[in-house]
Amino acid sequence: MKKIIFISAIAAVVIVIVIAVTSAMILLQKSSPEKIHLHSDFKVYLNGQAYNFTSEKYMSMEGHHLSERTHLHDMNGDIIHIHAAGVSLGEFFNSSDIKFNSTCFVLNNGTSYCNSDNSKIKLYVNGIENIQMEKYNLKDLDRILITYGNESSEQIKSQIDGVTDVSCIYSLKCPERGSPPDESSCVGGNGTMCVG
Ligand SMILES: [Zn+2]
Ligand SMILES: [Zn+2]
Repeated sequence: MKKIIFISAIAAVVIVIVIAVTSAMILLQKSSPEKIHLHSDFKVYLNGQAYNFTSEKYMSMEGHHLSERTHLHDMNGDIIHIHAAGVSLGEFFNSSDIKFNSTCFVLNNGTSYCNSDNSKIKLYVNGIENIQMEKYNLKDLDRILITYGNESSEQIKSQIDGVTDVSCIYSLKCPERGSPPDESSCVGGNGTMCVG
């Protein structure tokens, strides 16, 4: 009988310890800041022409800070960096004063590409048409194509193929393909919140 009480007491102590450690771990996870650092490849075709985002005005850098949550770096106009949860395509483009929705793509110089009888704006995510448009939340390693025009399905297929797939290098998911450029201008580098 005594033995049973002793074993039960030990079991109770073990259960209490397990519960305490688990709650402490959950609390710790909640109190530490979210460390999100994702990357997506993207391309925008306007009437069959790939738009060039490799330009200083689109880069977040020292002395020219765009959004902390999402931006382009390293003079690479193909890779969107995402440093927060729930960043949509619309938020990314807004951070560069570009408007994108289901009816128009409007560049920051005011040039607009809006739906008409024969030209339409479309979004493809990983090769599949997506009607969420500006509301689409970017995910790690997404390959995003936004295309405006009246291209045939073959032409759109070749645009889809033209979207790069180097975000896995930036997200350190394919080390065999190399390592990303230093993101120290992005305070703390890979895996940390970026203020740049
Ligand atoms: Zn990055
Ligand atoms: Zn960054």
